[in-house]
Parts: sequence; structure tokens; C-alpha cells
Amino acid sequence: MTIRKLDNLNRRSALVFSVTAVMGALYPLVGRTDDGDSGGASTSRSGSSGQRIALATTGIRANVVVVGGGMAGASVAKYLRLWGGSGVNVTLVEPDDAYVSNIMSNFVLTGVRSLSSLRYTWDQLATAYGVVRKKARLQSIDSANRQVVLSDGSVLPYDRLVVAPGVDFDNAYGLTAQDYDTRTPHAWRAGPQTSLLQQQLAAAVNGDTYVMTIPAAPYRCPPGPYERACVVADYLKTRKGPNCRVLILDENPKIQAEAVNFGRAFGVIHAGVVNYQSGVTAISIDPVTKVVTYTDKAGLSQTVQARVVNPIPPHRASGSGAGGWMSAAGLNNSADGRWAKVSPLSYESTAVAGVHVIGDAAQCGLPKAGHVGNQEAKICADAIVRLLSGQSPDSAPVANSACYSPITATTASWLTAVYQYDPVTQTMKVAANGGVTAGAAPTEAATISSGNFQQMGTWFNTLMGDTYT
Ligand SMILES: Cc1cc2nc3c(=O)[nH]c(=O)nc-3n(C[C@H](O)[C@H](O)[C@H](O)COP(=O)(O)OP(=O)(O)OC[C@H]3O[C@@H](n4cnc5c(N)ncnc54)[C@H](O)[C@@H]3O)c2cc1C
Repeated sequence: MTIRKLDNLNRRSALVFSVTAVMGALYPLVGRTDDGDSGGASTSRSGSSGQRIALATTGIRANVVVVGGGMAGASVAKYLRLWGGSGVNVTLVEPDDAYVSNIMSNFVLTGVRSLSSLRYTWDQLATAYGVVRKKARLQSIDSANRQVVLSDGSVLPYDRLVVAPGVDFDNAYGLTAQDYDTRTPHAWRAGPQTSLLQQQLAAAVNGDTYVMTIPAAPYRCPPGPYERACVVADYLKTRKGPNCRVLILDENPKIQAEAVNFGRAFGVIHAGVVNYQSGVTAISIDPVTKVVTYTDKAGLSQTVQARVVNPIPPHRASGSGAGGWMSAAGLNNSADGRWAKVSPLSYESTAVAGVHVIGDAAQCGLPKAGHVGNQEAKICADAIVRLLSGQSPDSAPVANSACYSPITATTASWLTAVYQYDPVTQTMKVAANGGVTAGAAPTEAATISSGNFQQMGTWFNTLMGDTYT
């Protein structure tokens, strides 16, 4: 993956193009440090150079509030300043002290990486680009008066609001949020649950069974659960013994991404260890005994005694549950009420004017992935700059997605696609042969290889460097 692939691919106005040309010339001034951690990647950290970027004077004067400093929010904050210029005041609202990357966090489970190696701060966005950091949580949106209320009681007015809060997880399979935190971690947001799951796997012995569940799509990171099953299977069989088993209970009818390579991984590379079950229903988990029951594709009821249970529960846009701030604002207007429908031209909500939603919380036809969140952020930043200049958003945005999936401790697969706006369905669709093509699908690696594993490190560092520095 080269940095060129991460560039915003949509066609910009001359105004914005000239600003990005300035950005391109200055970008190498931004410093990064590598901590040399293993796992196919060293980590690019933010906040090291202290260099201030000379932003363009575009004539735009506006206040933009960005909620959430994850993959999508951090990217949009940076590019709003770069492309909007010094008159666009960007305030980033985020309650945490640092962001912990989900990407690569499956390697924490196997002890290959540390959580601290995946930690990113917003220091460089503040230092280099002048993004104002507000350590608080969004509590409510007053869209009529264009202002937000934060957990510290402060009120921020906005001309445009960008919301990038990620996802919340349902209480599912008989489990509660407390079970996820203390006994049966999903670890689908990197942090303490990742450490808990790592400790549970470390305590496993030869003959133990690890059970993982996968919710019905859409969910965060389509290849992610299958990737996790592979690295856990590799770890258990090489470190704990050949009699360990990985049981995947997938509520989807088939593998959702990289079907050929994951099929090979389950059937050949990890044969005898991985048991992949699709079309599973009625999953029930006892968090104390770790007994899991489910109904298989044939309609038969099954029971398994697990040592480690890793349920990935259904999720939804953060704040979109009953009484949540997103629901109160009327942003969760997908058919199932779980996601925020947006225009893929600007990421402006189709329900609430002046509010843009990007990243996993949005619904627009793109997969829920960190690389995609970074791309959506650039399309959104470009559109906001145009709107603030009295122009219309680009009518033909293009985005790309790339994802590397480790299969063992030294080999990986990958998946990539270019997406283009389809004016007929008004969604982003996979493009091929220069345009949206019926039936086009993402491309997966021809082989599972150590070369892919090496490229994975370059891709990850480039993506995180583009997002946080
Ligand atoms: C194990 C795993 C592996 C993955 N691997 C890949 C991969 O290889 N490639 C890839 O592209 N993607 C991958 N992903 C998916 C990727 O991590 C997500 O798609 C991405 O993080 C989504 O970005 P986001 O900005 O929407 O949300 P997040 O990154 O989750 O960020 C949301 C931020 O919003 C903040 N927030 C929430 N509520 C509020 C509030 N009320 N006020 C203020 N701030 C708030 C949170 O604190 C958080 O910092 C993986 C995910 C997992 C779990």
C-alpha cells in the first residue's frame, strides 16, 4: 500500500486543489517516531515534531465541531484544516486520553503486539494543524440552534458538525455489558477487553475450545472476525497444543469477506483446528460456565463447553440506542434505526441539515472499516470546504478500501476495492473497468504469503500516519 492510494481520489475544485498542493509540499515536515514493535508493523506515533504547518488563507471563516477522535474523526479534523485553511476553526471533542487502534489489535491477543504500541494521541493534530482538542463527551445536539452540549457543561456553536463516534454493542446471547467487561469479552473495541481476552487465551491448555460468534452484517470490519479466528487458531495450536479447537459461530450465511483465502485458511492451513459454522441461530452463552448452545444450519440444537468465549455482539451507531444522543437528534434514520443514513456526496445526514456522520456510524454503501473511515473523512472534508465556499459537493466521489488479514504469525492475505458514487441508487458501489459495474466485487490476494505480511506493516503505518500526524 503506497501513500498515493490513501490520497483523496475525488475530483476537487481548483481552490481546494491549490490548498492540497501546498499541503503536499509541507507534509514531509511532519515528524514521526517508530517504536519498532513487531507484528508486521512498527507504529507511527504523533506529537513528536512540534512543527506547525503554514495553512492557506482561503477566505473561509467558519466553526466546525468534530465529535470522536477515532479513524474517521481524526482524519476529518486534519483535512478540514488543511483544505479549509486557517479560517476554519476545528474543535475535536473526544473524552479519552488516547486512541487505541483496533487495527492490529488481534496481535495483542497472541502477545505479538502490546496495546501501548497501538496508542495514538491528538497532539500532532493540535500542534501541526491547529486543531483545538476538547476533552469531553458529546451529550446532545441542538440542531435548530446549531450547537452541541458537552459532558463538562460547555456549549459549542457550529456552522457544520461532523459526528464520528464509532459503535455501541448490544447485550446479546444472554450477556450484559458487565459480562463483556469481566468474563466474556468481545474486544471489538481495542482496550481493557483486549487485555482480558489475551489473558484468557494465555491461560488455555491443550484440548481447550475457544468459541467466537459473528453477528449478522453489517458489522465493524467484515474480514476482522475471520482474521481473529486464524491468528487465535495459529496461536493455540503452536503454543498450547494440537488438540485445541476454534469454533466459529457465524450468524451470516457465508464468509463475509476474502471468502477464498479464509476458506483455504479454515480448510487447509488450520484444518482440524478451526470448525467454521455458518447460518447459526439462537446462540446462548452462560458467562459463568462458558457453556454455549446454538442451532446449526440444519436446525439441530448443539451444545459446546468452551474454555474461552469471545462473542462479537450485534452493534449500532454509538448513541443510537433508546435514550441515546443520536436517537434524540433523529440521526439514526436507517430502516432498522441502527445507523445514520448520509449522502455519500457530503456525508451530511439525510435527516438533520448541517450534521455530517462518518465512519462506522454512517450508512452509505461502504464497508465499516478504518481505512474507509479515513476515506470518508476526506470526501466529507472536501464537501464541507466546498459548501462553506458556496459551492456544491463533488458529484462523483471515489473511495478506496484496503485491508490486510494475517492468517498465521508470518503470513497474510489482503482485500481491496475502489468504490464510486452510483447516481441511480445514490450509494457508493464497487467500481471496475472505470466505473460502477453490476456484480463487481472487492479483489482478494491471489495467495496467502509472507510478502503480504510485510506489506501489511507499511499499509498500517501509512494509514495511521495519515490519520494522526
Ligand atoms: C479487531 C479489529 C480489527 C480491525 N482491523 C481493521 C483493518 O485491518 N482495516 C480496517 O480498515 N479496519 C479495521 N477494523 C475496523 C476499524 O477499527 C473501524 O472501522 C474504525 O475504527 C472505525 O472508525 P470510527 O472513527 O468510525 O470509530 P472509532 O475508531 O471507534 O472511533 C470513535 C471515537 O469516538 C469517540 N466517541 C464515542 N462517543 C463519543 C461522544 N459521545 N463524544 C465524543 N467522542 C465520542 C470514541 O472515544 C472514539 O475515540 C478493525 C476492527 C477490529 C475490532
